[in-house]
Amino acid sequence: MPCFRCGARQTDPVRGASPWKRGVRADRQVLVCPGCQTAHDWADDLDRCAACASAALVCRLGEIECRDCGHTREAVRDGPSATGLVRSGPPPGDGGLSEEVAEALSRVLKRRFAG
Ligand SMILES: [Zn+2]
Ligand SMILES: [Zn+2]
Repeated sequence: MPCFRCGARQTDPVRGASPWKRGVRADRQVLVCPGCQTAHDWADDLDRCAACASAALVCRLGEIECRDCGHTREAVRDGPSATGLVRSGPPPGDGGLSEEVAEALSRVLKRRFAG
């Protein structure tokens, strides 16, 4: 995921704590590169916690959670998620039954024409 401000891509992941900061913008998880963190207003573009106004938010499972106070709220702008599961029912038509019916029909027809 690139930096949401300048589009810089995260280079080789450093062991331990990453200098990149995570935040939430418009209910979506974003990353801020170390360079943009030096700008004094870098957090102004981020969503803030409704309880403590912290920008240290994480977005997961359709929820925005504040890492400072633990306040959570639902992510409203995430759009419809993959809830429409495709149902796989039995194949259309029951071969056994229609075969039986066809056989009975042919028997009736044969009898009628044989007479
Ligand atoms: Zn940046
Ligand atoms: Zn908070």
